[in-house]
Amino acid sequence: MRVTFYGVRGSFPVAHPKVTQVGGNTSCVVVRAPGAPALIIDAGTGTRAAGRDLMREEFGDGVGEGAFLFSHTHWDHIQGFMFFEPFFRAGNRFTVCARGSHDRRLRQVFAGQAESPHFSYGLDAFKAAVDWRAIKEGESFSIGPWRVRTVRLNHPGVAIGYRVELGDKSFVYMTDTAPYDDQLLCEGFHERKPDSDPEVVARIRECGRALEEFVTGADVLLYDTFFTPEQYAVNPHWGHSTPDEGIRLARQGGVRRFYNYHHHPEAWDDVLEGRVKDYARRLGGSDLEVLLAREGEAVEL
Ligand SMILES: [Zn+2]
Ligand SMILES: [Zn+2]
Repeated sequence: MRVTFYGVRGSFPVAHPKVTQVGGNTSCVVVRAPGAPALIIDAGTGTRAAGRDLMREEFGDGVGEGAFLFSHTHWDHIQGFMFFEPFFRAGNRFTVCARGSHDRRLRQVFAGQAESPHFSYGLDAFKAAVDWRAIKEGESFSIGPWRVRTVRLNHPGVAIGYRVELGDKSFVYMTDTAPYDDQLLCEGFHERKPDSDPEVVARIRECGRALEEFVTGADVLLYDTFFTPEQYAVNPHWGHSTPDEGIRLARQGGVRRFYNYHHHPEAWDDVLEGRVKDYARRLGGSDLEVLLAREGEAVEL
């Protein structure tokens, strides 16, 4: 399988001379394998370029098949959705998988961002066939030959992590999430209860163990490294993590390659590159490779 990074930034897209090496578009990753439906994970602003590339293949002829897997529907993960060209070619077929939550139907969640006065055309403008599939964290399912597993992440409103497997290869996409240390961020509103509440402590431990099991044996882990440890200490309730926590997870699970992802909008190229080099140096001699997700780059598994 081939995983291509089309958007690697978190929160909002950035245009600045100091992001040209790593990229300024928000979350979007495409997973492809010959003969299998294209998997598009999250639809931040990077989705526009992803759609352009897919139009050069079978999607341009109106015979493409693909599925969107959404971590959650915060802005930085959906803003490119209406700019995805293959939606406007009749014959293409898509399934949109996202967490079904609250009392709103999944299609309505996506229709909302396209409604006037926010946008000039709605989902009815799509010429491709689109199925909407509400999923729940912990669920496993197949998309063509892909096996997909899901896990609950620690984020306001709850996000979903994905493990995509084909043959003996596996790729884990894990953003947006805080470490499961002393807080449990929940649906609708986040909670921060004291450590002394045994029920919450037990739930946090259980979720943390589930994440450790989830990444075990993965070839590649793409992980939310939005914060440095110092930044995390100030805003733990934002629901983002650090390279330290991701590397801990990767090492305990015997992961081969760890990618820093969902970069802070003000983390410039030299800062990110220096940071990743520093972590890689500290891990010198270990089996884990520490890398930086860069827009436009791909990893082969
Ligand atoms: Zn995000
Ligand atoms: Zn988010």
